Amino acid sequence: PVVTRIAPSPTGMMHIGTARTALFNWLYARHMGGTFLLRIEDTDRERSTEAAVQVIFDGLDWLGLKPDAPPVFQFARADRHREVVMELLARGGAYRCYMTVEETEAARQEARAEGRAIRSPWRDREEPGSNQPHVIRFKAPLVGETIVHDLVKGDVRFQNKELDDLVLLRSDGAPTYNLAVVVDDHDMGITHVIRGDDHLSNAARQSLIYEAMGWAKPAFAHLPLIHGPDGAKLSKRHGAQSVVEFAEMGYLPEAMRNYLARLGWGHGDDELFTDAQAIGWFDIVDAVSSPSRLDWAKLNFINNHHLRLADVDRLAGLVREVHEERGVHIGAAALEALIRTIPLVRDGAKTMVELADLTLFVLKQRPLALDEKTVKLLTDETRGRLSRLRDHLAGHADWTVPGLEAAIRAFAEAEGVGIGKFGQALRGVLSGGAAAPDLASSLTALTREESLARIDDALS
Ligand code: GLU
Repeated sequence: PVVTRIAPSPTGMMHIGTARTALFNWLYARHMGGTFLLRIEDTDRERSTEAAVQVIFDGLDWLGLKPDAPPVFQFARADRHREVVMELLARGGAYRCYMTVEETEAARQEARAEGRAIRSPWRDREEPGSNQPHVIRFKAPLVGETIVHDLVKGDVRFQNKELDDLVLLRSDGAPTYNLAVVVDDHDMGITHVIRGDDHLSNAARQSLIYEAMGWAKPAFAHLPLIHGPDGAKLSKRHGAQSVVEFAEMGYLPEAMRNYLARLGWGHGDDELFTDAQAIGWFDIVDAVSSPSRLDWAKLNFINNHHLRLADVDRLAGLVREVHEERGVHIGAAALEALIRTIPLVRDGAKTMVELADLTLFVLKQRPLALDEKTVKLLTDETRGRLSRLRDHLAGHADWTVPGLEAAIRAFAEAEGVGIGKFGQALRGVLSGGAAAPDLASSLTALTREESLARIDDALS
């Protein structure tokens, strides 16, 4: 059975690339009926604070990518990592290296000049039996090549002379990154390592460790990075790069899943799909090997699609959060107003933030402060007309969008004018100048009572 994982280092933010990696691991596990695991690579004790770990939990939670088991914490497994290093020593796959810092630096420069990886003179020496400070290095092959059979990149060849005898255990007994990853992936039964292609050369080093231990290697799939719209490495100036930023900008998690799935993977021309469809279609071998670019227009299009499908009560709860954050209190009546209004305006919203903008008019408290434009439109003639319209609407029974459209048309006809003669003014009176949908939708969202009261306020 397939077992995938993501292994983020808690750095204080969850990069959108990590989110995409998580999604591909999750999709592949779901598609194969396998298991999706989480390992927190918290060996950097300075950065790995509780808060930084929480950022990852929260990010995965928000994205709806729930691991199938509690997380594994890498640092807690240091004893096991050391145990494997001792086993490698016993098998002759590793050696104790007593080079000093200065000697290491000299060896490094010599290796660089000769275009090969650093070698230690201790590699072939008999065990000195000393208790001097030392590291334990991996005994990497000197000749030949190591091939990573990557499911995305194809066969990637590494010349062994360029792969150094990497340190497995530091002089203070701390296991190093590549060793810990191999031991953890092995112990967790990971069958597919799907991650960013910045780890491709690590895959070669890690392959050698698997071989030295006599362990079966996982399949590797290295995903290209996500770039900004301009093709440069994604950074702050591209608008957003961390998961929370996308959440705060008002994107829905299901839209992010849809969009991120399209970023480096695809199913024909399908742009919009559900989780079930993505799970049914997804195969890691279909991931593309060239970098993808963040495309805001496409993300907005996809988010709008999912906004239109989403449950209205749920959206109302989310829009409420945006309003509350802006200092607009949402009580029970206001929540009802949001639930009435959202279906009428959401087609025009790209994000939750826009949905909040488009629902603000309905939340305003009477009497509304009218904007200057509306005040100018309220001439005596228009006031008279709005007053007659008010009475016309008061007697109108069918308070729905089509019913109100018909009522407004009939009123304009009776007055012998186009709707343009009073529509702008009415809109201003109903919205106070805030963004609002068409007249019939605005009236429907506001309810009869509130609509008439707002007109009365303006005419009094
Ligand atoms: N901890 C690594 C990172 O955050 C990932 C290692 C892996 O996936 O093997 O980039």
